[in-house]
Amino acid sequence: AKERGRNGVRFFNQQMQAEVSARTELATGLRQAMAQQQFVLHFQPQIQGDTTVGAEVLLRWQHPDKGLVAPGLFIPVAESSGQILQIGRWVLQQACMQLAEWARHSDTASWYLAVNVSARQLHDVHFVDEVKKALRDNGAIAENLVLELTESQLLQDIDTVIHKMQQLTALGVRFSLDDFGTGYSSLSYLKRLPLSQLKIDRSFVRDILTDANDKAIIKTILALGQSLELAVIAEGVETEPQYQKLLQLGCQQFQGYLFGKPVALAEFAKAQLGSFTQ
Ligand code: C2E
Ligand code: CA
Ligand code: CA
Ligand code: CA
Repeated sequence: AKERGRNGVRFFNQQMQAEVSARTELATGLRQAMAQQQFVLHFQPQIQGDTTVGAEVLLRWQHPDKGLVAPGLFIPVAESSGQILQIGRWVLQQACMQLAEWARHSDTASWYLAVNVSARQLHDVHFVDEVKKALRDNGAIAENLVLELTESQLLQDIDTVIHKMQQLTALGVRFSLDDFGTGYSSLSYLKRLPLSQLKIDRSFVRDILTDANDKAIIKTILALGQSLELAVIAEGVETEPQYQKLLQLGCQQFQGYLFGKPVALAEFAKAQLGSFTQ
């Protein structure tokens, strides 16, 4: 038993060591990715009626060996290493550059981009200045920028966060509460936040036709949106029946594979506007 115990400990240590070195390797890879400009943005349309009103910006890592790496595989490491600050700054700059470019084409001038903001970024003291700088550096219009926050980010230091949101709201930037329904939002503080949109988490959309609880949650979110005068968007809409059910419940904004997968800029522009080249 003693023997096994020692082996168990050794195995555990080896496993921990492997995890630590995998993370270190990833952090090194991310540094190179920044330096060698291996990050790319994908764009996924957001729909209202039969028009594209905007797009969510989704980060990808074009890795020289591994191909396109999804953000779920590297953002957690970038968060804990702090590299997300630099990466997030780059995402904001790129998004604002794209907004300014679109603003020069009249038919896309009102499109907005929704950018995901990590907890680390939001709680950073320079956050407000960096958003302002990205808008100013690129000549982008604040009204065309939406920032997506998640509920868990708002649990900590809420007064400071509200103050930051107010400063950006005053410029015209809007805020959307992502993955809504999965967190711990209490209605009392939801009212205090200068939000313009709630984003129904895709886990509720997925089973809307078969799970009465999920349908009830979606109904509640839509009612909440109405009473707080917030737009509500459903994410992860994959099928026509899901879409029809959401419409029937009163949802007006949509995002999901049914309308378009996240794609690189050229493909997005081509799909959304035949004549639009960039
Ligand atoms: P999220 O903000 O909840 O983004 C939505 C995710 O759902 C995206 O995954 C998108 O590709 C996926 N999705 C969209 N439509 C559908 C659908 O119809 N069905 C299904 N099954 N999935 C759909 P993705 O691109 O892998 O991003 C994962 C997460 O990584 C995002 O979740 C977000 O939390 C984070 N992320 C992505 N880009 C950034 C970024 O620039 N900065 C930060 N901080 N986080 C980012
Ligand atoms: Ca999001
Ligand atoms: Ca989600
Ligand atoms: Ca989401």
